[in-house]
This record gives sequence, structure tokens and C-alpha cells, in this order.
Amino acid sequence: MTKPIIAIDIDDVLADSAEGFLAFSNERWNTRLTLEDYSEHWAEMWQVNLEEAKLRGTTWFESGGTRRFRHKPMAAEVLQELAKRYVLLATTSRRRIIQQDTADWLAERYPDIFTAVHHAGIFDDPDHGVEAILVTKADLYIDLGVNYVIDDQLKHCLAAADLGVPAILFGDYPWNQTDELPSGVTRAANWQAVKDYFDGQD
Ligand SMILES: [Mg+2]
Repeated sequence: MTKPIIAIDIDDVLADSAEGFLAFSNERWNTRLTLEDYSEHWAEMWQVNLEEAKLRGTTWFESGGTRRFRHKPMAAEVLQELAKRYVLLATTSRRRIIQQDTADWLAERYPDIFTAVHHAGIFDDPDHGVEAILVTKADLYIDLGVNYVIDDQLKHCLAAADLGVPAILFGDYPWNQTDELPSGVTRAANWQAVKDYFDGQD
């Protein structure tokens, strides 16, 4: 029997990404940002123009900062168990210029867990010398034929639910609060809750 596929986001699901990124920002640019301020739209978050945000982005990516991200406690342990029953794919919107950093970090923190890493590429920037392939995560979910999605961004969970794919909204973050979760989307505050969810699927 073929194993069902779970698509798992990296940033703020497997890694404490926002925290690590903001710590770098606060040190490097003297910002005083907290998780409450975090947004995927960096120019807005920093309150700088797009050009400055781009320069800072390049500084950040070239710093290799993602290599130092902390991993989520319990995640590897839960995933090792899930890997027996599911195919686990890492799906990320991370830019391909840090593809090697991403692969190395996953190999170190989550060894032998993921079958593959797929980049949606929606944030890829041609200026970085990487051909922009503007594919959304929803496109990936369809192409890969995934059966479950785990992501901390509500928009990706909604996209999955729209495709009829059950989604787990990971974490209880300032950026993923909502009054009501649509059907097909279940919040898991941490990896224990993810484990409980899948234990209930048998
Ligand atoms: Mg994420």
C-alpha cells in the first residue's frame, strides 16, 4: 500500500525561524522587533523602502543565519514515528539561494526523515541570479499529490483546505491567529499536538 504524503513547512514549523531572524535583525540593524511584529513582508515590518529591504535581505541570506536556527523540540522524534506510516516532504517558500543551507540544516537536525525538499519559489528573486519560478505552495500540493499539509501560515492551510487536503495550522503565533478556523483546518500548537492528530487518523 502506498503511504499517504504529508507536506511539512520548514520555517516556524521545524525551525524557530522568526525568532532567529529577528535576533539577527535586532543585532545588525538595531531594530527592536519581537514575534508580535513579525511579518513575511519585510519592508513593512522594518518600515523601510523595498530597496533597503532587499539589501537587508541579501545581507541576511549571505550571513548563513538560517543555518543557526533552533529546531523545534520533539519534532524529529514525532517525525521519525510518522515516517513509518507516511511519506514526509519538506515544502518551503524559502529562496533557492539558500537551498544548500536548507538542505544541510535539515540533514543535521532531521536526518533521514524527509524524502525530498520542494521549493515553492514564490519569493525567488531574479536579481539573486536564480531564475524565478513563481510557483505557489498550492501548486506544489497539487503536483505532489499531498494528503496532508502542516504549515504555520493560515493562507497555505486555507489553500490546502480549498483543495480538499486536510491542513494542520502549526503553532500559536501572533501571525496565525484567527477567530474561526475553516473546516479542514486544525490547529496544532506544538509537535505533541501534531502527534495526537495523526494518532487519531488511524
Ligand atoms: Mg512557515
